[in-house]
Order: sequence, then structure tokens, then C-alpha cells
Amino acid sequence: MNPTDSVTTANADMPLYANLGMTFMQCPYVTDIANSKADVIVAGVPFDMATSGRPGARFGPAGVRAASANLIWEGARWPWDFALDERLKIEDAGNVVFKHGEPQTMVDNLQAMIKAIVSSGKKTLVFGGDHFIALPVIREVAAQHGPVALVHFDAHTDTYDGGSKYDHGTLFHHAVQEGLLHSDNSIQVGIRTAYEKEGHPFEVIDAAEANDLGWAGTLERIKQRVGDKPVYISFDIDGLDPAFAPGTGTPVIAGLTSDFALKVIRGMQGLNLIGMDVVEVAPAYDHADITSLAGATLALEFLYSLAASK
Ligand code: MN
Ligand code: MN
Repeated sequence: MNPTDSVTTANADMPLYANLGMTFMQCPYVTDIANSKADVIVAGVPFDMATSGRPGARFGPAGVRAASANLIWEGARWPWDFALDERLKIEDAGNVVFKHGEPQTMVDNLQAMIKAIVSSGKKTLVFGGDHFIALPVIREVAAQHGPVALVHFDAHTDTYDGGSKYDHGTLFHHAVQEGLLHSDNSIQVGIRTAYEKEGHPFEVIDAAEANDLGWAGTLERIKQRVGDKPVYISFDIDGLDPAFAPGTGTPVIAGLTSDFALKVIRGMQGLNLIGMDVVEVAPAYDHADITSLAGATLALEFLYSLAASK
């Protein structure tokens, strides 16, 4: 989506399917972020140059926004007892603009965009893009709020040392190195690929343990870990099982169900939530928009969790 040709506003007369390619949940499009009165600003990052496997997450923002059309009709989203727009004003700033083949322009422009959002007191909801895009986002969130407690859903820890400068498997290694996180308050859920356990900076509830614990036990561990620190949620859609999220670059079987993930995010209401990203949605590998719909719905649940505390 190009911000210059995607202007739309919420319009009761607009058919829901007309939201295709436009804003998340048909919320107003915003260009003047600093002067916006929104509580939350949505941004898309159509960037997948940092993928180690299959690319395609550049179409994630468009896929998630399109799938969100299916969620607009609900006034008070089940099982919440209020409608989101009664409590929370949300605007969509469109996609970060950058030069293809020049990843640093994405980093610079994304940081400028997130800085405009957080420095004017708003919260961020970012759609990737591959997972690398969370690093520039967290830099600016941490610049505003100080180090954050990371709640990270993923099949992979993304804490690998080495790799390339732009790498979707190393970003949390760099986030720790850059002092962006309260490592002792950060936790990873759904991991089911090898990682170096010795010296690992975060608590891990791997997918097998999470599924044995159940969502309530997992939520309890998350709450204990993050305490009262500002919480940033990074949701790699491959944290879900490929049955629930096939449309992603590096799927790994035996993951979380969408029901599990929704209940955990719903249960995070009341925590000091300051932002979220949903990354690695790659619609070209998807079936029936399952993955895009999962990404859109997880993000919407985050917004409800934010609104519940207002
Ligand atoms: Mn992953
Ligand atoms: Mn990841």
C-alpha cells in the first residue's frame, strides 16, 4: 500500500470488502502523526529482505489489513462487553516508505515513524514484514519508555549471534546488546527450534511445555515474569501451528493454537502494554487467508486488551 494513494476514512456506507488494501479495520488514515488524537497508530512495514528462508512477508501488511475487513462488522467483539471504538481511537498511518534494495532506508524511515508515534504519547501496532522490522520499532519504543519487557511468541528465539546485519533471526540478540530490553522480565513462548540454552537471556516456555501447561498456566508465568514493567509484544505468526498459520516463511509444526494465543493476549489486559507487532505473515503461502485473519485477529485482541484498561 502506498500512503499517497490509499487515503480512506471510516464510512458506514462503504462495503466491508472495499477495505481491501486500505486501512486496518477501516479506521481513519492519518498522515500528521504528531498532531493526531489517536491512542494507537497502526503502521505497516512491507519489508522481507532479512528473511533466511522463503520471502513474502512484504505482503503481510496488505494481507492483514484486507483480512481485517472480516472483523469490522462486530460492534462489541465477542467475548468483550464493549465496542472498541467506545474506548480507543485508532488510526492507520499506512506503510513505511523505503527504497527497495536499500534496507537501511527502511530502518531509518521506520524509526522516524515510530518515534513520531511514541514521542507524541501514542501506542504502536506494527504489521511486518519479516521479524527484523521489530528491532527498529523496539529501539524507538525503548528510547521513549526505557527498556521494555518483551513477550515474544515465535517458533524461533531469534537470538542468534552472527548472521547478517539485516537478519530476522538475530534481532533479539541485538536488542539485548543495545540495552533495549529488561531481559530478566522478558519471556519467549512457543519456541520449538534449537537454541543455545547456556546464557540465554530470556525465560522460555517452549511450545511443548506451553501446550502442556495450557493458556492459563502460560499466562501466569508471563505475568510473573514481566511484573509491572512496560510490556512490548512481538508476535511472529509462526508461533502458531502451521495448521492455524500456514502462510509464513519458516513454518514449524507442533505450535500454539489460535485459541491459546488469543486467550493469552486477552489475559494480558491490565499489564502495562505499550506496543505490539505481528510479523512474518506471508500471504502467498496462505490458504483461504487463514494466516492473515489470525494476524489481524491477534492484533485486534491486543487492542481490546489495551481498551479494557481505559
Ligand atoms: Mn519464527
Ligand atoms: Mn521470529
